[in-house]
Amino acid sequence: MNQLRKDYLLDRWVIIAKKRGKRPRDFKHEGEKRVGKSCFFCPGKEHRTPPEIDRIEKDGEWIIRCFPNKFPATTEKKEMLDKGLLNAMAAYGRHEVVVETPIHGEELGNLEVEHIAKVLEMYTRRVVELKKDPGIEYVSIFKNRGKTAGASVAHSHTQIVALPMIPGIIREEMKVLQKQGDCPLCRIGDIEGERTVREDKYTVVFAPYASRFPFEARITPKRHLSSLEELNKKERESFALSLKEVLTALNKSTNYPPYNYHLHLGPGGEDFHMYLELLPRLLTWGGFELSNDIVINTMSPETAAKHYREMIKQ
Ligand SMILES: [Zn+2]
Ligand SMILES: [Zn+2]
Repeated sequence: MNQLRKDYLLDRWVIIAKKRGKRPRDFKHEGEKRVGKSCFFCPGKEHRTPPEIDRIEKDGEWIIRCFPNKFPATTEKKEMLDKGLLNAMAAYGRHEVVVETPIHGEELGNLEVEHIAKVLEMYTRRVVELKKDPGIEYVSIFKNRGKTAGASVAHSHTQIVALPMIPGIIREEMKVLQKQGDCPLCRIGDIEGERTVREDKYTVVFAPYASRFPFEARITPKRHLSSLEELNKKERESFALSLKEVLTALNKSTNYPPYNYHLHLGPGGEDFHMYLELLPRLLTWGGFELSNDIVINTMSPETAAKHYREMIKQ
């Protein structure tokens, strides 16, 4: 039976349409080649990026680099342009790029766990630094993998946009995720039971009840932690391993599909339960989705979770 399901963090509905659905192996993507020519994110081209902000090195060479985006979505000027109904303000903020590996064509999911933990460490350093600016209200961290998912440079990277406002979706979640012990992510084992993909002492991975995308997954720390800087070393390593396992299973199942992931973080000082949302882009939304803000997902999260568990076991 097709079901209308409501997301328990947001006022958002989806239709899980199993009968229209295919089997997990039918979601194969034709794949997007990433090898080939080097680019200005590659070693030796450092002079072609804006001046570096931060780096992590191994044996004297950088393995992760952060620099400002050449074509930022934000401006460094603060200004309010209020014309009644037509509200506007300067898009004050920062827009940065984190190159996750020196190897052109390498996949994030194929890096060593220790390396992925270092990528998370770089995210953490940037969040801490960007939050020092009193004009910044929220730091958005997201990854586009593949052209369909919005990546304009093939070399594996993440983007960070520091904003002068808190996005609506985070404000909505702040109301639900604020009470430690009572927040849904603190009780995720009870809520997502059969949709749990993997868990260890520190982290849970699950296919959310109201998934909008086939193979959608979320990763959350077991402790009620608001933001990246609150993860201890073991929690960060466990988070990195979870990300690696779920990306590897996704890539193997669907042949390196386009995907986005982004972090939902507490803006600062507030009670919140952070998580990473992984959105594989295997379906294109049509008129129904755009007109009603209700998505039809042709793979149930129960099927996705079962498939992920089998792939991770192998
Ligand atoms: Zn490159
Ligand atoms: Zn919680």
